[in-house]
Amino acid sequence: MPENLRGAPLRGLLLSESDRTVIACAAEASHPREGCGLLVGRRQADGLARVTALHPAENLLADAFSDRFELDPAARLRLQRDCRKRGEVVLGHWHSHPSGVAAPSATDAARAFEEGLVWLIQATDPATGRAGALEAVWSTGLCGPVESAFQPVALILFSE
Ligand SMILES: [Zn+2]
Repeated sequence: MPENLRGAPLRGLLLSESDRTVIACAAEASHPREGCGLLVGRRQADGLARVTALHPAENLLADAFSDRFELDPAARLRLQRDCRKRGEVVLGHWHSHPSGVAAPSATDAARAFEEGLVWLIQATDPATGRAGALEAVWSTGLCGPVESAFQPVALILFSE
């Protein structure tokens, strides 16, 4: 758990245009299965968080399900340890929705037991596999209904 993310809600997530493109391409490459990866960065004093690096992650469930993802917990722990040395944290993760809906699903909400993680959801078009909308939410730790499990987060794209 990135300890500095717990508590105060996130006002917005800063994501570079190039990282946005990397996520879109990875989601397209995984289509029609869900792709996923980890978001590394920093929480800023102004209530925003900035993504500084993306880390590819294998979807452990890709072969079993087309509509679920599970990140390797060992890979995340390793990354978390490396980040701490640089004063960064694992802010959260992204995954794709081959259904074309860029919003958390009921399955996502049921598994969002960890408070304070950014969930970025990249839609891919069910017919063409092309990347569409990208939405950010923040997990409250109240897993259950989607409305209580997540709060919307403003996605702020910037070019470097
Ligand atoms: Zn999902």
